Amino acid sequence: MEHANVDVIVVGAGFAGLTAARELTRQGFAVQIVEARDRIGGRTWLDSRLGRDLEIGGTWVHWTQPYVWAELKRYGLGTVPSPEPQRAYWWADGGRHEGSPATLLELIGHHNSHFVKEARTYFPQPFQPLAQDSFKEIDDVSVRDRIREQFPPGSARDILESFWTLNFNGPLDDAALTQALRWVALTNGDWAVNFEACATYKIDGGTAALAEAILRDSGAPIHYGFQVAGITDGGGSVTVRSADGRTIGAKAAVVTVPLHAIPAVAFEPPLPSAKADGAARGQVSKGVKVWIRLRGEHAPFVALGNADWPLNFFQVEYALDGDTIAVGFGPDAARIDAGHPASVQAQLERLCPGLEVVDVATHDWVADPLAGETWPMHRTGFLATSLAALQAPHGNVLFAGSDIANGWGGFIDGAIESGMEAALQAASLLAAPRGAALTDNN
Ligand SMILES: Cc1cc2nc3c(=O)[nH]c(=O)nc-3n(C[C@H](O)[C@H](O)[C@H](O)COP(=O)(O)OP(=O)(O)OC[C@H]3O[C@@H](n4cnc5c(N)ncnc54)[C@H](O)[C@@H]3O)c2cc1C
Repeated sequence: MEHANVDVIVVGAGFAGLTAARELTRQGFAVQIVEARDRIGGRTWLDSRLGRDLEIGGTWVHWTQPYVWAELKRYGLGTVPSPEPQRAYWWADGGRHEGSPATLLELIGHHNSHFVKEARTYFPQPFQPLAQDSFKEIDDVSVRDRIREQFPPGSARDILESFWTLNFNGPLDDAALTQALRWVALTNGDWAVNFEACATYKIDGGTAALAEAILRDSGAPIHYGFQVAGITDGGGSVTVRSADGRTIGAKAAVVTVPLHAIPAVAFEPPLPSAKADGAARGQVSKGVKVWIRLRGEHAPFVALGNADWPLNFFQVEYALDGDTIAVGFGPDAARIDAGHPASVQAQLERLCPGLEVVDVATHDWVADPLAGETWPMHRTGFLATSLAALQAPHGNVLFAGSDIANGWGGFIDGAIESGMEAALQAASLLAAPRGAALTDNN
């Protein structure tokens, strides 16, 4: 064994893992974090690209997100607003349209308010999504089916499908209606506040500033380049093994790897089928985020294309040395070479002709085996069949991550919430007489 036993090994140094580690060290437990990458932050990554620091992964936070907001206050970090768009472009009814951002918001809102009107009916307590069973009536309904049932072919359908494709960062055919309604329930049923939460306020100093503050506070050591290949729970202790054969022992482990990275870890005893099936089925989010440097100065704009386009949303974020930096999103990373300026240009000019793409920056999170997905968005049936199973402890091995959060799943806030919960579980496990591991009823 390479290292002396610790109380808890935390697998993964994203926001869930960093939070779990801090909560446990604050209670006096000895924690070791292991991370396969050479950096913290996971699916958040502030990196220097295109001439400035850019968020390659998770970015926006909001005051309706209680966990991340409390962390910002705790460490004295502020937020910076994205620029107010002055112009809007959109695609609907087979054609390109241009107008004020207020007009586009009104067009979305008019129909979206109807689409999400049952959010609080099914999710009266949004941080306890399983609290009442009625959501099971609609858990097999996809966002696409519900939109098509409610809106005939035409402008309203086009705009809503594109808007929700953006939110899911993936195609809508298996995107759960319950996931859409859970989101909006978190902002008390108000879709516009929800949209504001998704793309308006960035962390001053970037996500890295918050991740570093949590790590510093925890004081927990990290082994970088430690890709966990196996976890064995011997009843009295847990052994975590890396792909290159190193092992660490602990009383418990908190596993925070993304859902799509769970199947690459061999668990002994094996995961119960409900957990393994949930991980195997995975999330809908297989899309792309790309940063785009545009030649020249352009007033901030927002642009919503067709749901089927490889890039269907653009928003201006920064002015830089006489150029403009915009961000784009699309539902399927495999359908576009987002690292190639000409491919991005071809998408952008359908909505905004005349703009010249100078350079682009992206990361293929879907092809990245340590992520395999972007922001986790549930499939149909996931909430009823998989969420509770994936949250459940497996002996002395506990699970956390934005993928399995109760509230803002898919967001940084959900990762922090889930890390807090796993730390509570770990602390109660360590306080219990040995051998009395929490049971997994699944
Ligand atoms: C493009 C994109 C845009 C997003 N936009 C937003 C946004 O604007 N606002 C927002 O709130 N959220 C956003 N998100 C979502 C948010 O970033 C994530 O939900 C959140 O950061 C996930 O945190 P986590 O700790 O649960 O998982 P992760 O951050 O994925 O952390 C898991 C860690 O485990 C590590 N790991 C994986 N496998 C192993 C292994 N076998 N051994 C050891 N380590 C391993 C990974 O390297 C990673 O560091 C976005 C995500 C992406 C990708």
